[in-house]
Order: sequence, then C-alpha cells, then structure tokens
Amino acid sequence: MRLLQTRALTDLGHAFNRPNSQVVAVAASVVLLVAGFAMWAAWLTRDVDEPRLTVTFLQTSYGESIFIRTPNDNRLLIDGGGDENEVAHSLGSLLGPWDRNIDIVMLTHPDTDHVGGLTAVLGDFHVDTVIHSGIQASSDVFDKWSTAIEDHNDVVVVRPGMTLGLDHDVFLDVISGGCLEASVVCANANDASIVARLRHGEISFLLTGDIERAAELRLANSIANLRSTVFKAPHHGSATSSTSSFIEVVDPAAVVVAVGTQNRYRHPDEDVMARLKRAVGADRVFRTDLLGAVVFETNGKRLWTVYQN
Ligand SMILES: [Zn+2]
Repeated sequence: MRLLQTRALTDLGHAFNRPNSQVVAVAASVVLLVAGFAMWAAWLTRDVDEPRLTVTFLQTSYGESIFIRTPNDNRLLIDGGGDENEVAHSLGSLLGPWDRNIDIVMLTHPDTDHVGGLTAVLGDFHVDTVIHSGIQASSDVFDKWSTAIEDHNDVVVVRPGMTLGLDHDVFLDVISGGCLEASVVCANANDASIVARLRHGEISFLLTGDIERAAELRLANSIANLRSTVFKAPHHGSATSSTSSFIEVVDPAAVVVAVGTQNRYRHPDEDVMARLKRAVGADRVFRTDLLGAVVFETNGKRLWTVYQN
C-alpha cells in the first residue's frame, strides 16, 4: 500500500444527499481542477479535533482489508488482503511503530484474498477478539490462520442479528454470515461472507465481503432495511455481484470498490462499474486499486472522503 501522504478531502455532505442531483456535466479536466481545490479547501477548514469515525479501505495487491477506528480509537480490522505481510505493514505505517493494539479482527470468509494477511496481523499485534464466519477452507493459508486462532482466548463465531457496540454511538450490526438457513448458502463460501452494517449517527457503511447474486437476493428479500450511506461493492466489483436490485435497496450515496492492484480476475467488471456509477455518480465510486487507500471520516452527520491520488 502507498502511504497516506496526500490528504485531499472531499466533503460528501449530509447523509443521503442524493448525488445524482448534484452531478454537473463538466469537462473532466475542469472537474479535476475544481475538485482538487475544493478538497484542499475542505481539508484546511475542517475541525481536526472533532472526534470522528474513520473507515479505511486499504490498498492491497490482492483481495481487501478494511480498518475502522472509532472516535475513541477503538479498532476493528475486517479481512487482511491476500499478501502475507502487506496489511500488517500498512497497519504499522498507519499506527506507528510502537502502537500494536487492535481490539477486533474479523474474517468475513476464508478465501485466501481475505485471510492471507491476517495471520501476520495476529503475530505482530495484540488482538483482543477474533470474529469469523465459522466457514472452513482447505488451503495452507487458511490452516495457518486456524492454527493462529486456536490458542486465542477470545474467538467468536458470528451470529446474524448480533450487534457489536464499538463505541458510544458506533455499532456493527451483523446482518448475515456463516451457514444460514440451508446448505445452499454454505455451498458457496462467498455467499456465506459476513455482511455487516457499521453505523455512526446518521451515517452507515454496508460491508459485504464477497457475497454474490444469490446472497444479495436473499438479503434484499429478507432484510427490511438495507439502506446505507456507503456501499462496499461485494466481491471486488465482480460480475457475479452488485445486481441492480441490490444497489436499489441499499440506495447508497457513495460506493467503494475494494480491488487488489494485482488481482488476476480482472476485477472490477466493466458493466458493474457502469451500474455503480449510474447509481451514485461517477465521482462517488472509489476504487482502491486506482486511488490508493480510500478513507472515509464521519462525525455521524457529515461524511468526508480522503485518498491518496
Ligand atoms: Zn475476495
């Protein structure tokens, strides 16, 4: 991951501002110029002392990793990318050499591009609690992780419906994950990914692991309200996911496509990208492979995004 040296910041406004009403057709170069100035202006005028929730979609070579810090600096890492040491190294850069504490590490599902970097994190950091979907995999990478968590004294297998209180007014609602309802879900580890909504005040993030069409459909039909401010497109923007009906029920104001810079699957899919851009506006779809780490900050009312460009 490249370091977060450029602190360009975009004010995405209040929760659920509908971006389409704000899209103005202007030549791309002009947009970039103006946006660049606006980002810096917004950054310079922000109240740096205001406690905020920070959600960082790290740039990885393979897979994805999301690092969450609450206003009182409680920390949750969701997935670890596919490279063995990359995410541990990135966290070291973010936290500094002497800070080795992470409250919760969560594995959404056991694919290598999510579990690959977590064993090193468990080795390098003091982790209080490990949460996972309970789904197993047969790979050397997964075996290493399984061995690493065997002796951990606080390991939780996730249950849909559980809510983790991460801080005052910061919650993680577990919507889905693990073997649910029938073997149908377990037959596909991607669809058994932990899906969770992170909430702070009026702002929310729908974190979707690698779920595909079937899980999207099941969630859309069974969960009363999936509406979220920020939508992490499932499965790295793959053609198997981000169906129109799912995007419609989530109704996001911004989208993150967390995709490895060296992924071998040619993620994200072009049609999916077009669909996501139509839904929220091209300037509100953020790709980690192109932008670097994509960081959102929120005070529970407004939402800002920062990334290296
Ligand atoms: Zn994946």
